[in-house]
Amino acid sequence: MIVLLKENPNEKQMENLKQWLQSMGLDVHMSKGANHTVLGLVGDTSVVDIDLIRALDIVEDVKRIQEPYKNANRKFHPQDTAVEIGPIKVGGGAFQFIAGPCSVESREQILAIARSVKQSGASILRGGAFKPRTSPYSFQGLGNEGLQLLIEAKKETGLPIITEIMNMSQLPLFEDVDIIQVGARNMQNFELLKELGRLSKPVLLKRGLSSTLQEFLMSAEYIMAGGNGQVILCERGIRTFETYTRNTLDLSAVPVLKSLTHLPVVVDPSHGVGISKYVLPMALGSAAVGADGLMIEVHNDPPHALSDGQQSITPAAFDELVQKVNRILPVAYRAGKAEK
Ligand code: PEP
Ligand code: MN
Repeated sequence: MIVLLKENPNEKQMENLKQWLQSMGLDVHMSKGANHTVLGLVGDTSVVDIDLIRALDIVEDVKRIQEPYKNANRKFHPQDTAVEIGPIKVGGGAFQFIAGPCSVESREQILAIARSVKQSGASILRGGAFKPRTSPYSFQGLGNEGLQLLIEAKKETGLPIITEIMNMSQLPLFEDVDIIQVGARNMQNFELLKELGRLSKPVLLKRGLSSTLQEFLMSAEYIMAGGNGQVILCERGIRTFETYTRNTLDLSAVPVLKSLTHLPVVVDPSHGVGISKYVLPMALGSAAVGADGLMIEVHNDPPHALSDGQQSITPAAFDELVQKVNRILPVAYRAGKAEK
């Protein structure tokens, strides 16, 4: 980190600043030019509050040279991380299809979808039990009953399951859940992230609706700083001025994230576009730009789905999607590796 001081800084204030920075365990290298003095900070600058330093009387500007995330940073961990769910690896060269309905609606529904997506090549089953809906009058999910049905589908098909947690009071119900999903709306629920950091269970973290990639990585850092390194990042589209699609699916996030972090990155084109007919092209694009997997909403009767029917694809369409994506994979760009 570089701190540029204003012209003719007060000696006493300068000394105080230096001592304060040293008290944080940093080495401070001072170079005095004709007009300006520059402080070069060496050490773990992730502990430094950059805005606080910028606000000081004698400071003109501050620049971060190193990213504020450590655990998630590829610089400190050049090898790809593979998050392992039994024999299934997310990241590290493998590609996984996570599929299932937006919400678990009934035993028949989740079992039928689970069987068919497994048959088509999905290796992880998704299904929401606690749903973060925009309207309090919309279907809120079956709650614990939905979770139990998802666990039943896991037992029958052998597919590991992923479902969203909304708050920590629900955690005791998640014992048999293989991957805990943190939804876009909770990406910056730091208390929740800290708690999940104490677990030794994989967490799939979705990008917030209006979050920068740095904010996204800082949220992953919250989980990792607590000791849980099993984090999967999920790009699911961000809010822009465009209203035709539900969100704008930021596919550039994939190679950028893969370059900045060693964590696996999967893409959810279903929420990314919000229109079922565009899920296939965006899934192909996601695979081509180097994603480690896809999360796809599949429903056996989309027009009657209790949530997100407009973006859900049928089991037959999912089958076609898997086949087409598998044809793209051998020529897909591989960010982390290609750059080294
Ligand atoms: C979901 O996966 O069903 C969901 C609610 O996703 P997001 O948090 O990305 O909106
Ligand atoms: Mn959904």
